[in-house]
Amino acid sequence: MDRPGIIKHRAAALRPAPNWTDYGAERAAFSWNSVRAALDYLPCGGLNIAHEAVERHARGEQGDRLAFRFLGEQGQRELTYAQLSYATNRFANVLASLGVGRGERVFVLAGRMPELYVAVLGSMKRGTVVCPLFSAFGPEPIATRMTLGDARVLVTTPALYRRKVEALRERLPGLRHVLLVRAPGEARQDIPGTLDWEEAMAGASELFEIAPTSADDYALLHFTSGTTGTPKGALHVHGAALTHWMTGKYALDLHPGDIYWCTADPGWVTGTSYGIIAPLLHGVTSIIDEAEFDAGRWYRILQEQAVTVWYTAPTAIRMLMRAGPELARQFSYPALRMVASVGEPLNPEAVWWGEEVLGHPIHDNWWQTETGGIMIANTPGFDIKPGSMGRPLPGIDACIVTRGADGAVHVASEPDTVGELALKRGWPSMWRGYLNEDARYRKCFDGELYLTGDLARRDADGYYWFVGRSDDVIKSSGHLIGPFEVESALLEHPAVAEAGVIGKPDPTVGEMIKAFLSLKPGYEGTPALRMELLGHARKRLGAAVAPKEIDFLAALPRTRSGKILRRLLKARELGLPEGDTSTLEAGA
Ligand code: ATP
Ligand code: MG
Repeated sequence: MDRPGIIKHRAAALRPAPNWTDYGAERAAFSWNSVRAALDYLPCGGLNIAHEAVERHARGEQGDRLAFRFLGEQGQRELTYAQLSYATNRFANVLASLGVGRGERVFVLAGRMPELYVAVLGSMKRGTVVCPLFSAFGPEPIATRMTLGDARVLVTTPALYRRKVEALRERLPGLRHVLLVRAPGEARQDIPGTLDWEEAMAGASELFEIAPTSADDYALLHFTSGTTGTPKGALHVHGAALTHWMTGKYALDLHPGDIYWCTADPGWVTGTSYGIIAPLLHGVTSIIDEAEFDAGRWYRILQEQAVTVWYTAPTAIRMLMRAGPELARQFSYPALRMVASVGEPLNPEAVWWGEEVLGHPIHDNWWQTETGGIMIANTPGFDIKPGSMGRPLPGIDACIVTRGADGAVHVASEPDTVGELALKRGWPSMWRGYLNEDARYRKCFDGELYLTGDLARRDADGYYWFVGRSDDVIKSSGHLIGPFEVESALLEHPAVAEAGVIGKPDPTVGEMIKAFLSLKPGYEGTPALRMELLGHARKRLGAAVAPKEIDFLAALPRTRSGKILRRLLKARELGLPEGDTSTLEAGA
């Protein structure tokens, strides 16, 4: 279907209107000092994420506002801002009584249950560095990360401990304390070498003086998704709160009173920056779904919880699209006003699906574990260009760079030059190091520029267009081809649910383009469909850029954060070693 290249901004779509601000004027006047002025700071002048996120809203009447509503198998659990303040104080006191001090590492391995959120924020209050892990990780990825991160404390559940950690304990001599969180009603078991969370919390005071951390002190450790290789441990500081506040406002349009749902797990940076910190900084109520993806239930949550702002990922959107529009139309979303997505390129089809099925186009966001927060986005209040990542947020300086024959980096001034996306260093949530990999960290920078490893172009209106990761870009017959463009064209075909495109070595053209597709229900991967899809791609892209081969798969291999693992498709195709698969989703 031919659609316009732009979706005009509709002020009326941004409800509630009383909160409407003229983002154009405000953004023009933006400075990081204005964000500093919006925050509270500690009495000693220091900055602590948990203080800004929780304590600012915990006093007086505001304290009764809901911070989190958890939708669990055994019903709903809720935490007000005041309750969150007391619970996180208790946990900070537990850490203090165990002798766990500033800068030491606290790991959390748990599903999205209230105690995970309490442990993350309580650790920050204590001044320790917290690292949430995906609870679905197997023992090896857990052991590697905990060893690399020098874990001193682990918060987990009895079942996860027994299944995944107990046998590793000898390999983790630095791990001194394990706290086990029981499910409501679950009986206490005596497991050697562990403490009971509930008992420890009950014995701790609910008053705590937050550690006098500064903006440059470490707060969080996050492992990257492992899309391109072995995951890196990225260290983040308390000063990141400035970016979280700024982006919560300008990219997600969060206002007090909003019901906000971020579908990411805190095992991935989105689930922490935007599943915990940014919404609390803006005093909104977050919905946390403790279960895994289910199309019907997700639509029901949007409807029943009256979600106003929804932050999700392309992989989830593609799964909803695959489930068909009829299911979506069984529900209604009158409260919804803003939908955004991050993690992978968002194909134009998906932006339009939002517009047509949810009543709102999806706002694509670009950022990385390393950037700590959203850097480039289609923002509320501005036109959306479907297929584009949008424009840099206030206070973020982005550019496209190319390398000369001598390897020197040049900033491209001509619009539409394809090159590496770079950011001027110094934004507040910039990560401050990779664990045990100083040289690799330094290599990410060229003078004042952070080189992101992603290829993109900027158009004449300042919108950025993702081309591909530098590792995934295909060189065919002298052309540089980004997999995203080819995948987006394939996704326009009604049979295609997911597409992953790789370059396969070829003696004549250098690399030949090969596509792996999964199909929507009701379609079969017949030779006739393959011919039709090859023809469709040739018509849309031209012979030089269209795939020459198509394979059908039941599902594409994905990371736990939902990214298509093109390097794995390629390794399997070429019969090469699979490399690090610690973040591979089960069954893929
Ligand atoms: P690793 O660094 O371990 O290979 P990763 O880069 O996938 O894994 P993350 O930090 O979770 O780990 O993901 C950031 C990357 O995700 C970006 O560099 C980019 O390639 C991709 N990405 C995120 N958002 C978008 C987007 N809106 N459009 C295109 N790509 C995106
Ligand atoms: Mg990366």
